Amino acid sequence: MKANRLLDIFLFRIGGEEDSHTNQPQVTVGSIVWGAILRSSIIIVLTFLMFAYFDVYQYWWVSMFALWFLVAFPAWRQWETFHARMANFTESTLCGSCLHFESGSQLCKLLDEHVSIEHLPCEGLNWTPKSIDN
Ligand code: SF4
Repeated sequence: MKANRLLDIFLFRIGGEEDSHTNQPQVTVGSIVWGAILRSSIIIVLTFLMFAYFDVYQYWWVSMFALWFLVAFPAWRQWETFHARMANFTESTLCGSCLHFESGSQLCKLLDEHVSIEHLPCEGLNWTPKSIDN
């Protein structure tokens, strides 16, 4: 993984509409989870280091706040943005109504390729409608 990509994930850079026009989307469910794991790990390691070197056990709650404000809240905001973008994407592409489309990763499961508004890997030949139940 490139350092820039890792930094994007770590900083929870909000993916905009441009992700809908590229077959290499920056923000997916996977990148959000990765960002949350990365940030949580850093906070947990820093907390243990603080406990090990300083007598600050009574401030354990600071870590809880850090986990909320630096991990959970930004991850949730990015999830909301991603979810809204994917709702538009699903409505405006043929893939959005296809059984093989995985919205969490903007991926065609059948061809194992990212899709975009401009890029339909199967050119519509493998389109399979989602059932009414889905
Ligand atoms: S099979 Fe075709 S229409 Fe369906 S998700 Fe894949 S590329 Fe899109």
